[in-house]
Amino acid sequence: MSLELTDVTLTYPDGGARLTALDNVSLTVPAGSMTAVIGPSGSGKSSLLAVAATLITPDRGRVVIDGQDTAGLGRAALTALRRTTIGTVFQQPNLLPSLTAAEQLQVMAHLDGRSPRAARPRALELLAAVGLAEQADRRPHQLSGGQRQRINIARALMNEPAVLLVDEPTSALDHERGAAVLDLLTALTHQRATATVLVTHDRSHLGAVDEVVEVLDGRLSSPRDHPPVRRPPRARTA
Ligand code: ADP
Ligand code: MG
Repeated sequence: MSLELTDVTLTYPDGGARLTALDNVSLTVPAGSMTAVIGPSGSGKSSLLAVAATLITPDRGRVVIDGQDTAGLGRAALTALRRTTIGTVFQQPNLLPSLTAAEQLQVMAHLDGRSPRAARPRALELLAAVGLAEQADRRPHQLSGGQRQRINIARALMNEPAVLLVDEPTSALDHERGAAVLDLLTALTHQRATATVLVTHDRSHLGAVDEVVEVLDGRLSSPRDHPPVRRPPRARTA
């Protein structure tokens, strides 16, 4: 199992009291599978991703990333774990305007103390994997919103993460481009064996997802009107 949250409770300060953003949440995402997290605005979806990304330490509960229990890891160890093991894709791509598509990815190697030039072949390979082989030398203003979001996804894969956390990637895209981005995420999850969590409030493209869970007021449940979608079992040989 690449991502395991067990009995996670997270509260935020709220005036003199505490607001419970996650209430005893458990979630397991195996390598090579994608779990969609749906739920209304304010229900705790982004908080769940922040805990899974080790950006917020929960009040209670266990977070295990790629076999490693994050409890007791210090700041530096958590930063290293995030850099080597976790890829994040947020709603806004936050690309650097002056860099080409390939350079947006190569910067990730630089941040990691590696040579950006040596990282170019991997950057080009990932751009090809997201369908942007021809756009490697274009800058963000020369690309569409869907293409920018694909760069965002490719960039999150630069460090070969075991865990891929994606927050509302299609919210700024039209329906067709949104569906294409979801298909891409599904394919990458299977090809690259990431444990992927996809937060979305768009239920329309969940057909290819391995599991769907719903957050309501910080509590997790399998949605009644959208049962978990499973891939068909392998054909039996008689
Ligand atoms: P979602 O992503 O589903 O919209 P969030 O995880 O962002 O939900 O928020 C869950 C709840 O926690 C909301 O009530 C929100 O207002 C509150 N919240 C989120 N972040 C903070 C924070 N940093 N400080 C205090 N309250 C927060
Ligand atoms: Mg959110």
